Amino acid sequence: MREIVILSGKGGAGKTSVTAAFAALAQNAVLCDLDVDAPDLHILLEPAGTIREAFVAGHLASVRPEACDGCGECARRCRYGAVAQTPEGHYAVNTGHCEGCKVCVALCPRQAIDFTPRTCGFSAVSDTRFGPLVHARLDPGAENSGRLVALLRSKAKALAKARGLDFIISDGAPGIACPVVSSLSGATLAVLVTEPTPSGTHDLTRVAKLCDHFRLPSAVIINKADLNAHEAARIEDFCADTGRPIIGRLPYSPDVVRAMTARRTLPEYGGPLAEALAELWQSVAALAAAPVRPQPQRQPL
Ligand code: SF4
Ligand code: SF4
Repeated sequence: MREIVILSGKGGAGKTSVTAAFAALAQNAVLCDLDVDAPDLHILLEPAGTIREAFVAGHLASVRPEACDGCGECARRCRYGAVAQTPEGHYAVNTGHCEGCKVCVALCPRQAIDFTPRTCGFSAVSDTRFGPLVHARLDPGAENSGRLVALLRSKAKALAKARGLDFIISDGAPGIACPVVSSLSGATLAVLVTEPTPSGTHDLTRVAKLCDHFRLPSAVIINKADLNAHEAARIEDFCADTGRPIIGRLPYSPDVVRAMTARRTLPEYGGPLAEALAELWQSVAALAAAPVRPQPQRQPL
């Protein structure tokens, strides 16, 4: 089983369109949306038969008013300002500010504070027209995104094994923070989708270095490659300097928006981009079959 993670280092480069296209072309894959803060793969894949499971991570403090004598120790000791006095004179925890550190629980002289597991969102497994989809949503402001990504990846692996599927194709999160780091360890190949803009080049550089740091093989797709020859050349130079293959250059096409509006993937929509993406998928599958790991970096990130 080969695990392919599609990343871009930024939003809006075309990562989800490429992931959905690969999902349509592979036909023997578990699909996975690892952007747990703002998932969107489901919009194109139209999941059905969804089975959800609460995602429980960390704890939350809550005061039992009947046991509280209003001494205020919890409010004085909470470093996050999460406890405040109510007009009734007892104290209450603002759940949006509580970090679950347990200090107030330990110091309350009346043992009036409960400490319960916190539900931070959900994970889900659905059916789609291209195969099973593993996805999730983290509640706004909730933490543990990396842990939720790790959970999705383990579910995807179990599903691929149980159904005898060859690939896991994952739509990664933008940026290079926790959910992206969590999506890399042990993967087979990262496909880096970029666009020829200064921010596209900058963010490609960051996510490529992150892949190198974890010794994860990576290959680059330049999306809208014909829009800015100067930046496209900078991307090509970066890839040449770092020994990173460029496996495709997709032209700008209004078909991307048209396909999205029709809620179809590009291979389903048809046209020149569909043909280019079919070739690209062959390259990705070939690279994933024989990945070449980058050498360890001497320079720290
Ligand atoms: S420390 Fe305990 S008793 Fe004192 S205000 Fe807080 S919850 Fe109430
Ligand atoms: S658990 Fe920690 S963060 Fe939450 S209210 Fe108590 S002291 Fe504050």
